Amino acid sequence: MDCLFCKIVSGSIPAKKVFEDEHAIAFRDIHPQAPVHMLVVPRRHVASLAEVGDSEGEVALLGHLLSAVAEIARAEKLAEGYRTVINTGADGGQTVNHLHLHLLGGRSMAWPPG
Ligand code: 5GP
Ligand code: ZN
Repeated sequence: MDCLFCKIVSGSIPAKKVFEDEHAIAFRDIHPQAPVHMLVVPRRHVASLAEVGDSEGEVALLGHLLSAVAEIARAEKLAEGYRTVINTGADGGQTVNHLHLHLLGGRSMAWPPG
């Protein structure tokens, strides 16, 4: 499958990995929007949040990805807080069609987002 993040998961495209376990990997965003900007992705190809169903496995995967965000944030010592973002579809600003959670930190974030 011609998917950028599947290629990062398989190692055929390099990335600065910061975390990996059985179900997920995390790596630094190539165009960071904050001093800390990681992407947490499932190893298995899931196109977007809109493709996630309500099966036990899929719900567990989402919980696992969020738990990975929290673990990475602790490792990065983001004690002042951080922003977690999931862009979904065209209106959501999704540009890579493999589910990913952005973890942004190291600066104060604005609200509302653009
Ligand atoms: P989206 O806009 O889909 O929510 O986020 C996609 C993110 O992937 C963007 O922040 C973009 O900078 C990042 N990205 C795109 N191509 C690459 C790449 O080849 N390597 C890494 N590490 N990040 C990428
Ligand atoms: Zn993929």
